[in-house]
Amino acid sequence: MKAVTVLPADERVELADVEAPAMAADDDVLIRVLEVGVCGTDREICSFAYGTPPDGSDHFVLGHECLGEVVEVGSAVTRVQEGDLVVPMVRHPCAHSDCLPCRNHRQDFCVTGDFSERGIKEAHGFMTELVVDSEQYLNVVPPELRDIGVLAEPLTIAEKARSQVDDVQDRLPWGRDRHHAVVLGAGPVGLLGTMMLVNAGFETTVYSLLRKPNPGAEMAESLGCEYISSQEVTPAELADRVGRIDLVYEGAGASGIAFELLAELGANGVYLFTGVPSQGKPRTVDTDLLMRHIVLGNQILMGTVNAGRAHYEDAIRDLAAFDARWPDSVRALITGRFPLDDHRKLLFGKPEGIKNVFAVA
Ligand code: BGC
Repeated sequence: MKAVTVLPADERVELADVEAPAMAADDDVLIRVLEVGVCGTDREICSFAYGTPPDGSDHFVLGHECLGEVVEVGSAVTRVQEGDLVVPMVRHPCAHSDCLPCRNHRQDFCVTGDFSERGIKEAHGFMTELVVDSEQYLNVVPPELRDIGVLAEPLTIAEKARSQVDDVQDRLPWGRDRHHAVVLGAGPVGLLGTMMLVNAGFETTVYSLLRKPNPGAEMAESLGCEYISSQEVTPAELADRVGRIDLVYEGAGASGIAFELLAELGANGVYLFTGVPSQGKPRTVDTDLLMRHIVLGNQILMGTVNAGRAHYEDAIRDLAAFDARWPDSVRALITGRFPLDDHRKLLFGKPEGIKNVFAVA
């Protein structure tokens, strides 16, 4: 079967013919891949910044944003059945007996770093035709979400972020603040985060590099949000314009503007970093000013990566809510669908639109 494979030692990415996976354990499930999203992580892996094959292999199959259909289940499988649409979890736990997060099924908080991630680290991913996974990593998607279910995995990032913000804001005895959020970045993570925040009741402004018009700005405005370009408005001007910023949801992976915006976070505010910047030149920030704000403003800075099972369930539920509220916008997040043969264009070409997807079956 066809697979987009990465050979890090040779710095090669190719569409290869690989052996189809076989079911081994009685809780295994055979899945036909329907769609796989392409994200910044995939493109970085293709520049060989990171990405590791499984032990004993010189290559790995790329892709971690998957929607598939169950074609066969092992004898002990109870949670899914043939014909179900499923979204597999990306991260699998490490094997260390003292890793409390992994032993508690929260490998998204793994402390040893020995977790694996499908299509990213020490495990094959989903840019292929058939995959096998244990049922414990599968999340069922209702059939009516067939055309947007591939967005569930990137949405899990926002869902985990929100659950962290809710936990943090429970420190405020008068209840969770649902005031003004600024989303930094209008890529898929930023825009899915915007949908989630608007849907959760935040008045949300999208702040991103590009001047209008651009697809991210159009999308933000279709959700009822103001879109502001960081080439036209500085973070300080942004704060003057929107008022107290209670939450920043960073989804751009650009540390310079992210730390400038940190200086504008309001009292009791939460700043959530989700982007992974590539290593650039060191920058100068006014540490006295930031520390003064953080302390005197009771602020919280958090990083968040990956997601737990509950966040997959939240993402699938929220996709249905977005579909009911913004059926056109949520579909417009998917710019185009392409066969695996177009892998070079999607992985190496200029990124176009918002989210591009491989339609495999
Ligand atoms: C994926 C996460 C993963 C992270 C780091 C992201 O693109 O969505 O599931 O944990 O990359 O590898």
